[in-house]
Amino acid sequence: MKTFSDLELKPWIIRQLTGIGLKHPTPIQENCIPKIIEGRDCIGAAKTGSGKTLVFALPILHKLCEDPYGIYALVLTPTRELAFQIGDSFAVIGRAINLRQSIIVGGMDMVAQGAELAKKLNLTTGVIHGTETGSDHLESCNTFSLKQIKFLVLDEADRLLGGAFDGQIKTIFSALPQQKQTLMFSATITDTLEKVKQVAKNEVFMWEQKDDII
Ligand code: ADP
Ligand code: MG
Repeated sequence: MKTFSDLELKPWIIRQLTGIGLKHPTPIQENCIPKIIEGRDCIGAAKTGSGKTLVFALPILHKLCEDPYGIYALVLTPTRELAFQIGDSFAVIGRAINLRQSIIVGGMDMVAQGAELAKKLNLTTGVIHGTETGSDHLESCNTFSLKQIKFLVLDEADRLLGGAFDGQIKTIFSALPQQKQTLMFSATITDTLEKVKQVAKNEVFMWEQKDDII
């Protein structure tokens, strides 16, 4: 059985994982994390509870600590609960490197969120999470730049793409640099994700967990 150390993650990440009792990667973690560290775009699918959050959080933190500047990653999710949960996962591992992150969601006090973002403009290291309803903030905040991001993550991508959120997602995409790694996760590979893979500029590593049929 593989351990997280076999995935070539930085020793400080292994220490944080050990601290929260995690030693063995789940199948999607074992298969996708090395490819993401290599620099590949990735579409990963496995059912709820398979540990998909760490599939993107660990490689992002691994790379971010090598090259920390600017807003490093943008993680889009369909619900605010998910945005906060993902923020918690980044915080648990990222506290070892004083990770700073912002969680941007819709339906919250615009003034307070604006102030929060302004405070974080001079991020040396950062991850922004946002839901599609937070895209108003993302769209209107010309003051901070998404032009330097290295990673775009669409969590629960099947719910973000090919539906009502397409317009907002497109607007956000257009604010992002061409050069970046794109990571998408979902419970199953949908037609939309197949299409995304086909039209992608880079060769996408696609991995789906097939549950054994008994
Ligand atoms: P998903 O996004 O696939 O639904 P999550 O990332 O929310 O799954 O993780 C589900 C739970 O599994 C979380 O409580 C998380 O801490 C735990 N978990 C993640 N990776 C591992 C692992 N390698 N070993 C044990 N538990 C894990
Ligand atoms: Mg998840």
